[in-house]
Amino acid sequence: MSSYDVIVIGSGPGGYVAAIRCAQLGLKTACVEGRETLGGTCLNVGCIPSKALLHATHMLHEAEHNFAEMGLKGKSPSVDWKQMLAYKQSTIDTNTKGIEFLFKKNKIDWIKGWASVPEAGKVKVGDETHEARNIILASGSEAASLPGLEIDEKTIVTSTGALELGKIPKKMVVIGAGVIGLELGSVYARLGSEVTVVEYLDAITPGMDPEVQKTFQRMLKKQGMKFIMGAAVQGAEVAKGKAKVSYKLRKDDSEHELDADTVLVATGRKPYVDGLGLEALGIEMTKRGQIAVNNQWQTSVKGIYAIGDVIEGPMLAHKAEDEGMAAAEVIAGKHGHVNYGVIPGVIYTHPEVASVGETEATLKEAGRAYKIGKFSFMGNARAKAVFAGDGFVKLIADKETDRILGCHIIGPGAGDLIHEVCVAMEFGASAQDLAMTCHAHPTYSEAVREAALACGDGPIHM
Ligand code: FAD
Repeated sequence: MSSYDVIVIGSGPGGYVAAIRCAQLGLKTACVEGRETLGGTCLNVGCIPSKALLHATHMLHEAEHNFAEMGLKGKSPSVDWKQMLAYKQSTIDTNTKGIEFLFKKNKIDWIKGWASVPEAGKVKVGDETHEARNIILASGSEAASLPGLEIDEKTIVTSTGALELGKIPKKMVVIGAGVIGLELGSVYARLGSEVTVVEYLDAITPGMDPEVQKTFQRMLKKQGMKFIMGAAVQGAEVAKGKAKVSYKLRKDDSEHELDADTVLVATGRKPYVDGLGLEALGIEMTKRGQIAVNNQWQTSVKGIYAIGDVIEGPMLAHKAEDEGMAAAEVIAGKHGHVNYGVIPGVIYTHPEVASVGETEATLKEAGRAYKIGKFSFMGNARAKAVFAGDGFVKLIADKETDRILGCHIIGPGAGDLIHEVCVAMEFGASAQDLAMTCHAHPTYSEAVREAALACGDGPIHM
């Protein structure tokens, strides 16, 4: 039996970051992981492999659509799917090995196997029970499904299966127009699949700025993706490796069917707590099946903390990481802090979509007066030079104080641009602060500055 200051269960972005910070703060730390490799959902079957495929297929799209205009003539590249998957795997491998290196560097013990918590202060892995003054639960999440859909990870797949299909499907039905469905749907659309997205609601990416939603859907349609909105999927039948998806339109209850070689079920994710033994421990859960924590990430059982996808809040890697650092700091007797008002959300399609803070809807609901500064990438020289003039930056500021409250971007590099606004928000900056900051020309970030100018006396290039 080994004894630790902290044992972290799960090595995703929440768990591995918590373990590293604990070790840096002088705590004897171990991390238990049931998978073969470190890095959790994010590195193995989530953020990283999906971004590798998005990058590769974006390159293909550029070659097919924009090369000729730039005077780059010749045959478009053909797709070697096996090699693309090998590239994706090598991206995963370098990243998961990177975490292994960081564990060694920080003297963190990697305990291999599935953990349970028989009682506070004890973690059981296989036949061994380890002692831990503190336990951090970072067991993450798993794909949720719908009744009537039997996932086989071949024909009816979750994102995990969609990241390693045996071949590129001719027809793909994506159920759910959220981030994961649209990212992976656009990967296959660029590879030539006929992609139809079926969504229960009337707008894609629920909760986003409605103008962004509309622009985004229009752009995805232009890229060949089809959408069936307001449709409730009833189920899917599989025969000879093909699927028939049935759905009802909400507006008139009419019933329809769609044929598909692959059905991607992207209807959200749910916390993963199987096998941990939380019920016997008496750990309080939320109504939505998440582990309940207080503002110090402590569960209802003393000495047990929880972070990441397994607790409330957006299921995002960087949110899990921030909580990992903060929980470690709390355990070390320091002040751990996460600003939940400034957590950016990014969709890595082309163009990218990014948002942070309040939307017009949340401000209206709160009865808070606001103003908007909007700037189109059509007024941004750099964006136009790279065929990326479609899209905009929308900055929202308090009507009275000019303090930045939120930002919504669709356009080139949106996922990076959003951070200038995040930093400004962390510092309580006003739109004028951003507008008065010199921005290098020609960069996409000039569009953020112009949106800030639009909150005041007006943008220059529009
Ligand atoms: P996880 O990453 O899920 O890690 C939990 C780990 O715990 C797993 O490895 C699991 O094996 C292990 N575990 C569970 N129970 C036990 C146990 N009892 N014993 C031992 N080990 C255990 N987020 C972003 O921010 N950006 C993106 O671009 C993005 N893209 C995504 C794309 C896809 C296709 C998917 C599915 C998700 C994506 N996400 C993205 C979400 C992101 O992956 C998660 O928010 C993040 O991984 C959550 O981190 P976590 O540490 O809470 O849990």
